[in-house]
Amino acid sequence: MKGKKTLVTGGTRGIGLSIAKHFYDQGAEVVITGTRPDGVSPDGITYLNIDFSDLPATEIFASEIAEMGFDILINNAGITRDGLVLRMEDEEWQSVLDTNLTGTFYFTRAVTRSMMQKRYGRIVNIASISGIMGNSGQANYSASKAGMIGFTKSVAKELAKRGVTANVVAPGFVTTDMTDALPENMRAELKKVIPVRRFGEPKDIADTVAFLASP
Ligand code: NAD
Repeated sequence: MKGKKTLVTGGTRGIGLSIAKHFYDQGAEVVITGTRPDGVSPDGITYLNIDFSDLPATEIFASEIAEMGFDILINNAGITRDGLVLRMEDEEWQSVLDTNLTGTFYFTRAVTRSMMQKRYGRIVNIASISGIMGNSGQANYSASKAGMIGFTKSVAKELAKRGVTANVVAPGFVTTDMTDALPENMRAELKKVIPVRRFGEPKDIADTVAFLASP
């Protein structure tokens, strides 16, 4: 990873922060994004404020990213707005699709040209087990994550001949703020169907992502 310019979206906490720290420890030059204007990052890591829920601003920001010549892009930023489809508001649907799927599209498009010119690039997108299995109360989130899986497979086919790989990781449940927000009884039920009877840790995902982003 030495000297590899790496962008991790949503790198302020949870899985994204674990990825950012791990890549930094491996010698990468790491930039993270987060939604807070006053956000901070660990020493040595650069912070950029960008909120994907403002899509026009995200698109403008992405064009700046295009100029920065990243070697590695990790599309990790993601949100949930859970609810049964019967009662799901347009805004709950759209905000999840915008942040998780359209944000991934904008950033991937932004880095593609310079990666193709360099004939080197690594793109790793963070989807979810919900995008494969579906999850009650997460129709919007599952659709966005299933979309990321199809998107990444297509990008992989477009870029493979130019030395650029695209992969997607679909984690099971991982201990972060996202899963801490689930009610305790739901977390207990979920653990019953996980063979090791516990959630994953962010570092488990960071190790997998590092392998997929390595030369
Ligand atoms: P988290 O809530 O702890 O962190 C989410 C990150 O996304 C934060 O850094 C935040 O700044 C960023 N973010 C949130 N809203 C944003 C917005 N509107 N614009 C830009 N960035 C925004 O979540 P996490 O559990 O670390 O999840 C990271 C990724 O992993 C997400 O894509 C999530 O869907 C996926 N995932 C998580 C789990 C899990 O169990 N935790 C399982 C499978 C997949």
